[in-house]
Amino acid sequence: MSLVITRSCCADTTCIAVCPVQCIRPRPGDDDWGTTEQLYIDPTTCIECGACAQACPVDAIVLDTELDRESEPFATINAEYFAARPLGDVSPLPIQRRRPAERGPLRVAIVGTGPSAMYAAEELSELRGVEVSIFERLPVPFGLIRSGVAPDHDRTKRIGDVFARIFDRRNVSCWFNTEIGRDLSMDEIRSHHDAVIVATGAPDDRALGVPGEALPGSHGAREFVAWYNGHPDYADRDFDLQTRRAVIIGNGNVALDIARALTRPSELYERTSMADHAIRALERSAVEEVHVVARRGPAFAAHSTAELTELAHLSDVELLAESHEIATTAHDEADALLRRSEADLQRRLAIVADAASKTPSSAKKVVLRYRLTPTRITGTDRVDGIVLTRPDGTVETIETSLVLRAIGFHGRATPGLPFDAATGTIPSDSGRVVDPETGERIPGVYCTGWIKRGPSGVIGTNRIDSAETVAALLADHAAGMLPAPTRSPAEFARLVEREHAEAVTGRGWRRIDERETDAGAAQGRPRVPFVSVEQLLAASRAAATRSR
Ligand code: NAP
Repeated sequence: MSLVITRSCCADTTCIAVCPVQCIRPRPGDDDWGTTEQLYIDPTTCIECGACAQACPVDAIVLDTELDRESEPFATINAEYFAARPLGDVSPLPIQRRRPAERGPLRVAIVGTGPSAMYAAEELSELRGVEVSIFERLPVPFGLIRSGVAPDHDRTKRIGDVFARIFDRRNVSCWFNTEIGRDLSMDEIRSHHDAVIVATGAPDDRALGVPGEALPGSHGAREFVAWYNGHPDYADRDFDLQTRRAVIIGNGNVALDIARALTRPSELYERTSMADHAIRALERSAVEEVHVVARRGPAFAAHSTAELTELAHLSDVELLAESHEIATTAHDEADALLRRSEADLQRRLAIVADAASKTPSSAKKVVLRYRLTPTRITGTDRVDGIVLTRPDGTVETIETSLVLRAIGFHGRATPGLPFDAATGTIPSDSGRVVDPETGERIPGVYCTGWIKRGPSGVIGTNRIDSAETVAALLADHAAGMLPAPTRSPAEFARLVEREHAEAVTGRGWRRIDERETDAGAAQGRPRVPFVSVEQLLAASRAAATRSR
């Protein structure tokens, strides 16, 4: 017997720290650390102590004898990793505990509450003498954990429970429903803190840049995902689900999340945290077929192997591909092997080949399409099709009234800070924000996560990214390079009270959380999300339902 790491792995390395025999890989610093999609357990070294399973924030670690149908392939996937990379050094990772130098208290503001913000908050608030203030635009925290992670991956959303404990720390204060630039200015935040870390993610959809993109019926993936997760800014969106065929552009993990949402039975979502309006709309959906369109071949697919494996093993959806589109050249494979292992590549190609060999049945289907570049979205007053061009210049038009563009996300500028509009990121050096005109660092201003490196990686990638930013901030503090705040914490509390009475505190958010999870428990769901700011604010003001 052995423990097995399954699809929902967030790669945040919590398991590595607790493994007594150090049989989990890759570890930060290993050559494949930067490109890994998940972590793996060596079945021959594992002593089944269960420490990793207990520590895992997303319940991704299971005994091989208890794997369900969708997770079964992961026993082989874990073993194959070590067949290609036998376990070498098993000495524990050195634990780095950094304390601020004897420079008095350090007050750090963090803007955002997604994974990168929360990993930075976790690390900083563990240090004596550090006070952390956390700001979030919505009345509820956790960014993409709440409004991005797919509802049929509710296990992944449980990392929010781990992050929530950070708000209870005595040296952590939070102000939700507080937007920098709208409710408080960046200057106000900076004058009350030694340093600010911007962790605002990538809230917009990247543009495709083809004619017809703005027609009704053509939507960014962010819009659709935020809609089904109940994000207040998107809850009133309307999607044409009366089309028989939907087209998704791009084949990253977001594309696969949407493909599942459009094809899996709506009853399944009644047990999840999907917003009620989306469950009702999907119940009435006429979509039978979803084309996931990539501009390159299967060796280059942007989704992770774990997500493709899950899709291939769903009992309620058929995965198909077109046999004439899936050929892979030696050049493609050599290129792909720069980023992934041979076993991993072969597993993906085998899944695609299997999908291409199937005869379609009457089940709902996801069709993987390759080497098709979108050149035009057609229609007069709304979408009626999409024109795709092959490498040889020939075209294919797919008739559809729903096109979802899942081609990646784009960051948004923060008032008062530099911004690179081309990459959608804040210019920085190891997390230190840099003025692009002078090339000088802006003292006391840092960034982390997608607004720093662009929208890439899995949840745990942000732990390493935030560790780099926090290390830079602490080094600058130790070197006396941070501008001292000119106002006291009490003055800051008074400022927020005076300027922004609608700010939601940690206690207010707990009341929202209790109401959402209580409503969920009554229906056998993790939570029923409130989908408007008004509902969220009303819940934050209501009397507490549980004693804490
Ligand atoms: P992504 O992984 O960057 O994939 C973008 C896709 O869009 C690629 O297939 C890309 O093709 C295609 N594309 C880009 N520009 C295009 C264009 N002009 N025309 C046609 N196709 C174009 O983006 P994502 O799926 O939005 O994911 C964002 C991040 O969130 C990723 O790091 C992802 O792993 C993460 N995420 C993770 C999970 C999970 O772990 N379960 C779930 C959701 C999201 P090319 O490769 O040819 O450029």
